[in-house]
Amino acid sequence: MGPFKEEPIYPVPASRYGDVMDKSSTSRAPFPTLSTLAHVESWIFDLDNTLYPPEADLFALMDVRMTGYIAHLLNLPLEEARVLQKGWFRDHGNTLSGLMHHHDIDPCDFLAHVHDIALDRLSPDPVLRDMIERLPGRRLIYTNGDADYAGRVLERLELTGLFECVHDIHACAYVPKPQPPGYATLCAAYAVDPTRATFFEDMARNLAPAKALGMTTVWLNNGSEWGADIGTEGSHRDFIDYETPALAPFLTALFKE
Ligand SMILES: [Mg+2]
Repeated sequence: MGPFKEEPIYPVPASRYGDVMDKSSTSRAPFPTLSTLAHVESWIFDLDNTLYPPEADLFALMDVRMTGYIAHLLNLPLEEARVLQKGWFRDHGNTLSGLMHHHDIDPCDFLAHVHDIALDRLSPDPVLRDMIERLPGRRLIYTNGDADYAGRVLERLELTGLFECVHDIHACAYVPKPQPPGYATLCAAYAVDPTRATFFEDMARNLAPAKALGMTTVWLNNGSEWGADIGTEGSHRDFIDYETPALAPFLTALFKE
């Protein structure tokens, strides 16, 4: 886990929120308000560890199921399956891409297996729902997971009905963020003008292609696993416009003119 794992970061009091911003983003713009982002007509959200706090740690549950899938497929001990899994995550962006590349598996079968997890760690955040609902314009989800799972998560978070679409890994032909094609597919499929879009993500490296298309980018620096990794290309974080420890206080601040 990331460096903030041990700190109680959610929800974050407004006063502390300001402190975090002052320390970590001296070269970035101050916190925006809606008038700062008046040009934005599309609000695009990652799902996992973005619309809910990383303390839920659903990836740990999926991680175990991925390892089990590989062990069963290749008839390997769990420890050996895990080494393969982590290598594929590193080299291919996610386990699915590695499995498809090396073993030509059925992605639907894999995704259904991996996402078959209990969601009782999630709980609704009425403030977050209210803030998302108040955003002027379109609201979309872009996830490396699949839409069925996303629908279950949204239902559990009581965020159902707020989003125009879930742009999922199937829609991206199984090419995950941060690889660029899925970002372009999203914009084409839903007629999103990237220069009039804001993208929210807990994994910093997933913001780089969004910024390259002209999106405004918001990094949820919330200590999620791999969140602070900026990829092999990154020696700086110029592709991040804003940084916040959690989504709800960032959105709340938007409405404080
Ligand atoms: Mg995420």
